[in-house]
Amino acid sequence: MLGTVELVLDAKAPLGEGAIWEPDKKVLYWVDIDGFKVHVYDPVANKDREYGVGKSVGTVVPRKSGGLMLAVKDGFAEMDLDTGAVKVVARPDDHPDGARFNDGKCDPSGRFWAGTMGMDHGGGKGVLYRLDADLSIHRMLDNLTIPNGIVWSLDKKAMHYIDTRAGEVWTFDYDDATGAITNKRTVVKIPKGVGGPDGMTIDSEGMLWVAHWGGWRVCRWDPNTGNLLDTIKVPAEQVSSCAFGGKDLDVLYITTARTGITGARLESQQLAGGLFKVKPGAKGVRAFSFAG
Ligand code: CA
Repeated sequence: MLGTVELVLDAKAPLGEGAIWEPDKKVLYWVDIDGFKVHVYDPVANKDREYGVGKSVGTVVPRKSGGLMLAVKDGFAEMDLDTGAVKVVARPDDHPDGARFNDGKCDPSGRFWAGTMGMDHGGGKGVLYRLDADLSIHRMLDNLTIPNGIVWSLDKKAMHYIDTRAGEVWTFDYDDATGAITNKRTVVKIPKGVGGPDGMTIDSEGMLWVAHWGGWRVCRWDPNTGNLLDTIKVPAEQVSSCAFGGKDLDVLYITTARTGITGARLESQQLAGGLFKVKPGAKGVRAFSFAG
């Protein structure tokens, strides 16, 4: 049974993204890529704290040793939640000036995966990197355009991945012992007219919840059959990421973006850039933290 989508924060974020729930602190981390900010939302206190990062920040994950890890414009960075200090700890050697990091998450063994993209959204300029606990960087996929949602199957044997430009969800065989991925195949084809697949999370039944950029919706897809299972309409066009949160992991938080929406187009979606929530009748699973 699908609940009603509610506004959590009228953040008017240019590019809200990267939602992830921290189950011990019971807060939602999310970023505003173009606003250069990390947000920490506490639903019990109903307070959102923001930290300026000083450069674009594509995603955020918790770190086991404390604080946060970020994928900022030019590399992987650590962030101190007390002081807000951000320090780049690993930079790919081959990262061009005209590129920035975008979405990413940690795998079940705590390696941090994040993709890069050309700032001009040019085709094939993106790379998926993996940051291991020892801060070594590994180049995992090339020729990406807008690397986005990434999750691991509940049995830790598969990785699901989205490059928005492809309009598909891919699945790879994943080796949790080594972090290797092989055997890429398409498991979901997003039809025309419902936007492009962006951020993604997984529920306790192994189904994929995908934010549809330009589609006014989050959809639940079955990676085993490619079938559409549910649709949640969102009162903003550019839906960018989603994550289950709340103490029972039964609240789906949804980020949206305001960038590029002006004039008459904005009138029909004045909450664009807001953070939303819904109880969709499914539960999430704990997200993974960076092991380093
Ligand atoms: Ca995204």
